[in-house]
Amino acid sequence: RIGDGDAGNHHYHALMMFTKVDKSRSLQDKFRVAMLSMVKHGRFLEGEVLVLHFVSDQASKELGERMLQEFLLNATFKYEVVFHDVVALTQKLFPIVEAMQKHFSAGSGAYYSDAIFFLSVAMHHIMPESLTHIVQLDLDLKFRTNIRDLFQEFHRFPPEAVIGITREMQPVYRHTFWQYRKENPQTKVGEPYPDGLPGFNSGVMLLDLSAMRASRLYSQLLEPSNVAKLADQYRFRGHLGDQDFFTMIGMEHPKLFYSLACGWNRQLCTWWRDHGYADVFQLYYHCGGPIYIYHGNCNSPIPHD
Ligand code: UDP
Ligand code: MN
Repeated sequence: RIGDGDAGNHHYHALMMFTKVDKSRSLQDKFRVAMLSMVKHGRFLEGEVLVLHFVSDQASKELGERMLQEFLLNATFKYEVVFHDVVALTQKLFPIVEAMQKHFSAGSGAYYSDAIFFLSVAMHHIMPESLTHIVQLDLDLKFRTNIRDLFQEFHRFPPEAVIGITREMQPVYRHTFWQYRKENPQTKVGEPYPDGLPGFNSGVMLLDLSAMRASRLYSQLLEPSNVAKLADQYRFRGHLGDQDFFTMIGMEHPKLFYSLACGWNRQLCTWWRDHGYADVFQLYYHCGGPIYIYHGNCNSPIPHD
């Protein structure tokens, strides 16, 4: 079972980062598209409940509550909404992720406020034990299918996998691993799919919290000394938070990750095509097969179909 229950209800948990939304018209527009498309295609069975978690500050929460009243009007399924205070979560998170921040954050220091960008990495320690599975989603998504189907992907995890995630669709990690690739010319690190290891994108993530808690390997990889060791081994220096951490440990331990089909997180950003990687861009960007979720990353427009 991929959810917890009470009174015979089966809960499906989804979480979105939702901070400073009151200050950004653009984020509000993205949120509208994401929620209306989720509601439009969402179908659940009798006795099932979609629980929507938002990590937010007070002003974003107040706006979010008002927006959700409108967006959820046409929902055909039962839902609950839970707001989590970003300050409280950051406080819990910081001691766990402080040591990795310097490897995967912009700037040189481990800024307290940046810890929240690593929430997914330590979600299994932050959420109560009764929460066994959660899906983390960006706000800049558009659903073309039933979000319930995404949760069914948990059933396809192989035994050692703890996280389900889609590959990164730009050559960003070809760039980040530049030095390692120079020193290891035969490596698959940073090479395109299907033969290479292009890294991951964090816009849609399935977190099997029970498996994360149970995995000795995963908990070892969170230890500061092991993070430093791998970052040194791969000459890794990034600024994309959780997605950098997952990408790096995935190079060494691919079995921890279930590879979600590209259609579950069809990224649309083409920034790296125009910044030195036009020759190889399509090898990374290509995604055959059905598109279930569009991801308008780097403010890319999302098709209307
Ligand atoms: N986000 C947020 N407040 C912000 C910026 C980002 O809550 O001011 C959250 C939001 O859920 C967003 C996610 O962080 O989807 C990642 O940012 P974004 O999608 O803009 O990054 P991209 O996918 O373009 O790399
Ligand atoms: Mn995004």
